[in-house]
Amino acid sequence: MKGYAMLGIGKTGWIEKERPKCGPLDAICKPLALAPCTSDVHTVWAGAIGDRHDLILGHEGVGEVVEVGALVKDFKPGDKVLVPAITPDWNSVEAQAGFAQHSGGMLSGWKFSNIKDGVFGDFFHVNDADGNLALLPAGMDLATGCMLSDMVPTGMLGVEMADIHFGDKVCVVGIGPVGLMAVSGAAIRGASEIFAVGSRPTCVQVAKEFGATEIINYKNGDIVKQVLDLTGGKGVDRVVIAGGDNDTFDEAVRMVKPAGKISNVNYLGEGDFIKIPRAEWGVGMGHKQIIGGLMMGGRLRMEQYAALCKAKRINPGRMVTHTFKGFDKVEEALLMMKDKTPDLIKPVILL
Ligand code: NDP
Ligand code: ZN
Repeated sequence: MKGYAMLGIGKTGWIEKERPKCGPLDAICKPLALAPCTSDVHTVWAGAIGDRHDLILGHEGVGEVVEVGALVKDFKPGDKVLVPAITPDWNSVEAQAGFAQHSGGMLSGWKFSNIKDGVFGDFFHVNDADGNLALLPAGMDLATGCMLSDMVPTGMLGVEMADIHFGDKVCVVGIGPVGLMAVSGAAIRGASEIFAVGSRPTCVQVAKEFGATEIINYKNGDIVKQVLDLTGGKGVDRVVIAGGDNDTFDEAVRMVKPAGKISNVNYLGEGDFIKIPRAEWGVGMGHKQIIGGLMMGGRLRMEQYAALCKAKRINPGRMVTHTFKGFDKVEEALLMMKDKTPDLIKPVILL
């Protein structure tokens, strides 16, 4: 079969590989729609998971089941399915402890384009099919289905970890597709004010549509000062970090109130340490909590987010700014994700 792969750090291309084999609990799918992710860009161009050769990329897509293992109960060939980017082993002790994304070791629920080939192939393998796949709901378009793989669950995880309550003032740092879903999630969780940090005009427009009450442009100076100015010097109750760099933690701690919560879903790719400002962290006693996490994965979440789409509480399809037709367009879409033109939020490839 054909696949679009990482050939080495900074190098991608089409390769031929053997079609994956189906174990008793597994499914083999063919893609119906695909989306590249900022994480694919980090994998290839930042060497985020080390040097890899002939690793098929991609972890976002909608598929059609072509084969299932003998023990799979709920899916059959021909089913159109939502596919989460994170596909845990649901029998693991980590899953039993409530952190399935770390089944088999830290971050090991992330299998596509990491531990095994990703979804940018003629076929892809899904472990624990009953635990991980969900049926594509009738009436859901494929582009929206692609946003359910990773963008919706990661943005929503940021909101859940930040533990947003009714009336909270929230700052979402970064309004790419992940941060935009966090804005949307913060709005439906009852935030009173949502400050969204970003600069690209298309992202700014969608952030407003999703519920942002103020836009903060990090290119116009210190974002902490801007947040403090907007809150009478008090700061916000919650911060969700979906963009920026290591220094963003420093900023988040400075802008959150005592006993506030900071949740990070952003990839930190540089250096050995992140900084926490000592005095603003209450000299270690400020009750300012920091948590970072990987999206959940699994069927239940897919079904819950699909239900939110059906009820029109969220509209992730709005983030799809570019649509390509044909498998061979994967390369163009991935390069577009790397270069991030001002009009881009998320590209999708329909097959
Ligand atoms: P994008 O690159 O599309 O968005 C990043 C956002 O951060 C943009 O709005 C950008 O602004 C903003 N930004 C950039 N620099 C700064 C800065 N210095 N201060 C404040 N804001 C800044 O990324 P995605 O939305 O696709 O992904 C966000 C992150 O989430 C990535 O690191 C990705 O790897 C990670 N991720 C994590 C997952 C998880 O499970 N935890 C899963 C999937 C992705 P501008 O408008 O100027 O571009
Ligand atoms: Zn992704």
